[in-house]
Amino acid sequence: MDEPGVNRAPVAVEDRFGRPLKSLRLSVTDRCNLRCRYCMPEEDYVWLPREDVLSFEELATLAGYFADVGVEKIRLTGGEPLLRRDLSRLVRLLLQDRRIQEIALTTNGVLLAEYAQELYEAGLHRVTVSLDTLRPERFRRLTGRDEFARVLDGIESVGKAGFPDLKLDTVAIRGFNDDEIVPLIEFARQYQAEVRFIEYMDVGGANEWSMEKVVSCASILDDVRAHYGTVAPLPERGAAPAQRYRLPDGTIFGIIPSTTMPFCGSCDRSRVTADGLWYLCLYAMSGMDLRQPLRRGASAEAMREMICHGWAARQDRGAEERKGLEQVGLRNGSLIGIDRLREDPHLEMHARGG
Ligand code: SAM
Ligand code: SF4
Ligand code: SF4
Repeated sequence: MDEPGVNRAPVAVEDRFGRPLKSLRLSVTDRCNLRCRYCMPEEDYVWLPREDVLSFEELATLAGYFADVGVEKIRLTGGEPLLRRDLSRLVRLLLQDRRIQEIALTTNGVLLAEYAQELYEAGLHRVTVSLDTLRPERFRRLTGRDEFARVLDGIESVGKAGFPDLKLDTVAIRGFNDDEIVPLIEFARQYQAEVRFIEYMDVGGANEWSMEKVVSCASILDDVRAHYGTVAPLPERGAAPAQRYRLPDGTIFGIIPSTTMPFCGSCDRSRVTADGLWYLCLYAMSGMDLRQPLRRGASAEAMREMICHGWAARQDRGAEERKGLEQVGLRNGSLIGIDRLREDPHLEMHARGG
């Protein structure tokens, strides 16, 4: 197999709506050590067969083909990416490609204290920790595990390891943690972190989803204004999903309004599952199998062609379409039924990386 061109100039590709392909979420495992109710509520799932899960070398080779067509940013995700042994080796492999300008990690934080230092030394640029509550008992109820203290250790370890910044991602859920907006902003400030509130999405097995549980961007801003006074919006940053705001004392926080104000128009992201299926959208019902051609020894040119054609044909705008359904009263409950989920585990949020 010929190699992707580590120093080859990227040949940019645009989809049907003129959106470039700039950012890739690599899911390195579908397994997880938590069971968040909005993501992976069951104890057991149909897991991806181990022999199908891509090796680090295979993931890096694929990433190189994506860099050939313009990808500059990679986010490592899962499942819980830190369950994958020696993840820092993958970071090092990916960074051999100088066209990759940023590698970030999204983690639930449980194992972060163990690995933060070696990930930093390997060259990882950014860390995002998912944190939905500051109350240990709530954490246990939400995740089914008593791991709150370890997540806090993980958050502490980020700055100590040398990372210049930290993001905290909170899925805001009505009746569950919507009374913690201000405490989470205060907590983030303590760690010089930026908290981003994500609207609850009806992807995959989020089978407890309902519109009533979505805490909208507008309602989060109402809460914040009631407590802090004025909230100044910051200029938008290209395809970044978070809308950012500044409080009177300079603290910055963000909101990712995926459900009430989807941002598909500027979406430059796609996702590769741990077994090498390429999804053009978080809501896509099927993905393109890149593992089989990769393992059969397809040429770099053939792999690039597949990716270029796939992206050029892309017309996904899943969140906007879901919103369209809501306007005609057809957005009820979860996206996909449980039987269909059992048939195809890729449809789960934890398989496609959030
Ligand atoms: N396990 C890691 C973690 O939790 O950070 C990485 C994978 S997780 C699938 C990635 C992100 O997706 C997390 O921030 C999680 O909160 C978010 N997520 C999962 N289900 C969601 C849902 N139904 N709506 C909105 N965000 C969701
Ligand atoms: Fe695991 Fe992350 Fe999903 Fe929670 S959100 S169940 S930590 S993959
Ligand atoms: Fe991108 Fe799909 Fe999310 Fe829209 S729903 S922002 S197209 S991944």
